[in-house]
Amino acid sequence: MELYLKITYLNDFIFCPLSIYYHQLYSDLAERLYYDDAQLNGKAAHSAIDEQRYSTHKNILQGIDVFSEEYKLCGKIDLFDTEKGLLTERKKHIETIYDGYVFQLYAQCLCLREMGYKVNKIRFYSSDDNKVYDYPLPEDNPEMFEKFINTNEQMQNFNVDSYEPKSPEKCAHCIYNDFCDRPLAPKAYNGGF
Ligand code: SF4
Repeated sequence: MELYLKITYLNDFIFCPLSIYYHQLYSDLAERLYYDDAQLNGKAAHSAIDEQRYSTHKNILQGIDVFSEEYKLCGKIDLFDTEKGLLTERKKHIETIYDGYVFQLYAQCLCLREMGYKVNKIRFYSSDDNKVYDYPLPEDNPEMFEKFINTNEQMQNFNVDSYEPKSPEKCAHCIYNDFCDRPLAPKAYNGGF
């Protein structure tokens, strides 16, 4: 059986590879147990898309399932305009375009292409301040594309048993801290960073 990892795990993996396992393990529990308010707020921005309420235009695909055999990834896209070949990932608020955001957008783009769609342009949309951030396609940013490929390979081949966490600061701010079997810091840890 072939395993496909979720596109959203790329973001978790960058934060801490172990968090993928806690994400998976607790994903069926009530979200309030382990998502803080800011994260729930961000998820709400996505819910309109996930429930396909955003647009009724025929050329707009919303929240559809996508997958890539080549990269062993699957997930959902936010919005894809099939006429323009324009892929948009909405976020509640964007201050910085983190690598994790880009990797997820690249993954969506590559999945769509493997499924036969033509993607000409990719971008982020920050809904709080109504700002659009165009981003270069994978082939136009070889350095970032290489980073994506390396991160995905590491994620696909990750060995959970041998992983040792490295950052007490991350552990202190990690939403899975209370469940984790090897945190470097208790939840209330605040010092020194
Ligand atoms: S508590 Fe630390 S080691 Fe555990 S998942 Fe979070 S960041 Fe990773």
